[in-house]
Amino acid sequence: MSRSFDVVVIGAGPAGYIAAIRAAQHGMSVACIDEWKNRDGKYAFGGTCLNAGCIPSKALLESSELYHRAQHDFKKHGISTGDVKMDIATMQKRRASIVRQLTGGIGGLFKAAKVEGLVGHGKLLAGKQVEFTPIDGKAEILSAKHVVLASGSAPIELGIAPFDGEHIIDSWDALELEAVPQRLGVVGAGVIGLELGSVWARLGAKVTVLEAMDDFLFMADRDVAKVAAKEFKAQGLDIHLGAKVAKAEVKGKVVSVTYADKDGDQTIEFDKLIVAVGRRPVTTGLFAEDAGIQLDERGFVVVDEECRTRVKGVYAVGDCVRGPMLAHKGSEEGVMVADLMAGEVAEMNYDVIPSVLYTSPEIAWAGKTEAEVKASGRAYKTGSFPFTASGRAKAMEQTAGMVKIISSQDDDEILGVHIVGPMAGELISEAVLALEFSASTEDLQRTIHAHPSLAEAVHEAALAVDNRALNFPNR
Ligand code: FAD
Ligand code: NAD
Repeated sequence: MSRSFDVVVIGAGPAGYIAAIRAAQHGMSVACIDEWKNRDGKYAFGGTCLNAGCIPSKALLESSELYHRAQHDFKKHGISTGDVKMDIATMQKRRASIVRQLTGGIGGLFKAAKVEGLVGHGKLLAGKQVEFTPIDGKAEILSAKHVVLASGSAPIELGIAPFDGEHIIDSWDALELEAVPQRLGVVGAGVIGLELGSVWARLGAKVTVLEAMDDFLFMADRDVAKVAAKEFKAQGLDIHLGAKVAKAEVKGKVVSVTYADKDGDQTIEFDKLIVAVGRRPVTTGLFAEDAGIQLDERGFVVVDEECRTRVKGVYAVGDCVRGPMLAHKGSEEGVMVADLMAGEVAEMNYDVIPSVLYTSPEIAWAGKTEAEVKASGRAYKTGSFPFTASGRAKAMEQTAGMVKIISSQDDDEILGVHIVGPMAGELISEAVLALEFSASTEDLQRTIHAHPSLAEAVHEAALAVDNRALNFPNR
């Protein structure tokens, strides 16, 4: 006899495991299936985010930032350390330990919430049945009232630069390097290219980034992108825009890359090449042909605004469906579908999903860019405030960057907030809340911000929208 559950979730990344826990909180019986295997051969919940994405990358960003600051900033504080040394093995051990703690923690969360965590492969069959094949075990059929597909994504591989796991590598390999490559190439100046490029540049690699687009950080507000480009250049990231990579070949221990840019054909050699040109949804073996699931032309599971697939009772969330490939987007979709399954009214505000690049300085935004507002035809006003005028930023010796706010000219509604600077990823939460509540610039202006804090820069930028900045000359 097949086991039956109210909910079976396939995938225990941030979209799937959150959906499972939320559904269990509603009193439903839940199983969550995952087959993620780490490089040490151990299976772990948490998906890309915890095992090979958000968490390990931030662990290394922090370590490399501290190393960089110890070398370059401590002197200004009057601290001398002698020769600052780094030990990659310890850095990587720390990264692996954080990943182990957090992924292991999901097992604990499942236990506490009474979610049955199942290790193995899940496949949706017709009639809301799920074939579960445990690792080294016999397949079993689970029946469910509701199924959630949360199978995530994988790096896009370029035919002209196939991954070999040694010289031409993906983001996961790049997080597990055991030595600093002397010459590191990165294809793609997107989020991964810039974050991982920063890590290895701070640790001593000569990093060259080849980006196909002519505009740097094309998805960000232009003012923010301009500041970021200047800062990254100063840090030694050599970013080539409009670079069309033709071929990457491994010759002995070296990767030879040919590309064309405005100056013609170029060839450059690297010790390692990270290819980070985006990710694709993972759906191979996820559902049977007669299960009724439809994929779009890019391979994403087709869902509506409420993450419902074409099959009643089957939902899909996270990176395997349309929208930004972000952990917090997937998690909120997981919460929404669990609430819908429980009969509640739930929705996602896809217009207010924060984006953060954990570079130094950090870059974060929510809402529309100035170009998007301009294109919409809505009359608008803007205000900005530089961190050079922030007492807290000065005390931190991190004054690069600014906060920019775009608001509606007619009714003062905040339309977009763009930050490049220290802790931008934390500061953006205030903007997200303001946008979520359709706050006006005046709401932010009249909100008391602690002094001295980085958040005062958000306050001052709001004041600057109406030429009322108090700690910086207005236009
Ligand atoms: P995933 O996390 O990919 O999880 C899917 C899970 O499903 C996997 O464990 C997989 O094994 C399992 N699975 C798939 N098919 C099956 C099957 N048939 N049976 C059983 N199990 C299956 N996002 C952020 O928001 N912030 C960041 O700072 C950030 N940093 C990142 C850094 C890097 C280097 C990378 C690569 C990504 C980063 N991301 C970040 C993106 C983030 O990791 C993804 O958006 C997020 O993990 C998507 O969650 P998900 O649950 O949809 O999929
Ligand atoms: P991305 O879409 O952010 O950037 C890919 C970049 O590669 C783009 O700038 C694109 O123009 C460029 N590109 C594409 N094809 C190219 C080619 N042939 N040659 C040169 N350049 C090329 O993708 P990513 O950096 O791989 O990240 C994947 C996903 O993971 C993103 O959607 C991102 O949201 C997510 N992620 C998020 C974070 C974060 O939130 N901090 C961190 C890492 C990854």
